[in-house]
Amino acid sequence: MTIWNFSAGPSKLPTEVLETAAAEMMDWHGCGISVMEMSHRGAEFTQICNEAEEDLRTLLSIPDDYAVMFMQGGATAQNALLPMNLLYSRPAHTADYAVLGTWSNKTYKEGLRYGQGNIVANNAQEREIDGKVYGAKCWVPAFNEWKVNPDASYLHLCTNETIDGIELHELPDMTALGASEVPLALDMSSHFLSRPFDVTKTGMIYAGAQKNAGPAGVTVVIVKRDLLGHSMPSCPSAFDYANVAAERSRFNTPPCYPIYMCGLVFKWLLKQGGLATIEEKNKEKADYLYTALDASAFYINKIHPTYRSRMNVPFVLADEGLTNTFLQEAKQAGLFNLKGHKSVGGIRASIYNAMPIEGVKALVDFMKEFERTHG
Ligand code: PMP
Repeated sequence: MTIWNFSAGPSKLPTEVLETAAAEMMDWHGCGISVMEMSHRGAEFTQICNEAEEDLRTLLSIPDDYAVMFMQGGATAQNALLPMNLLYSRPAHTADYAVLGTWSNKTYKEGLRYGQGNIVANNAQEREIDGKVYGAKCWVPAFNEWKVNPDASYLHLCTNETIDGIELHELPDMTALGASEVPLALDMSSHFLSRPFDVTKTGMIYAGAQKNAGPAGVTVVIVKRDLLGHSMPSCPSAFDYANVAAERSRFNTPPCYPIYMCGLVFKWLLKQGGLATIEEKNKEKADYLYTALDASAFYINKIHPTYRSRMNVPFVLADEGLTNTFLQEAKQAGLFNLKGHKSVGGIRASIYNAMPIEGVKALVDFMKEFERTHG
């Protein structure tokens, strides 16, 4: 039976990448030892790490005035490292946050431990849009409602809310919001590398690798170099972006094996044709699933259509009492990890880059059959 893994993260990796890693496990490129056993300062790992950085730069067309770093601590650590590194980069020492879902709310709360933070937009209440009422965390306020402080050190957004299934397909125009000096700081963890993206529209980006970029254990951080050098005195030196950037991710021992795995994923993405090709595939997969959801009253996705995530598709059964049966039968059919996050329940299908359309079709076939037999 084919297994399709819909886990939200750590999640499915491309089969080819796992095969390459398996083939190279005991002896990397004839050097006689495994990547896990190498010195992080040796010639071999230097090549692996630099190539991973360069391939990522190619994929996203990242210019030299941005540092690319492979760090530890996950996106959760970045929620603290962002203020520790950037809050003092402007004199007002205050940060803005759009709180549009579970993860951005965590970022906001963590940020308050290090200094002042203001919520510029939130969707904590329900709202009627075009005659339909959308519940909390199911819609996004229009950008012209956002009240950005022109003196903020950054505006933080989580551009894909993994739990809630909200994706920002556009970024706010900071000049139109009267805040052209405020850099955007983005948590892109769960849609990083799912589409072409203009890094130069941001001050910094972070992404835990374990969705689209590789295994857990490494966090990709991209920062505009002119924002470096303002860290708080309490910022640990191993987490000071200026230090990590200066040493090209080897200020201390980095997560070597996860970096190597990310490097393999980056090469796989380049071989697929790069991010424009990947985006087309991701659109096709998401359209296929949302079309099936919309065609049935048995399944419900509650997110406003403009903000539906291409990566994480949460839905509920109209008869919520059938949720566990759905999950059990899905597992028997080889469709794994479809349980919604514990905070929201229901079903969630995460369809990251490594999930082929065949996996999505298998899910939709199962959903139709389940509706036929239980509807
Ligand atoms: N932000 C987002 C958008 C996430 O999806 C996650 C993890 N699911 C996190 C932050 C936290 O990541 P980590 O567990 O790697 O710290």
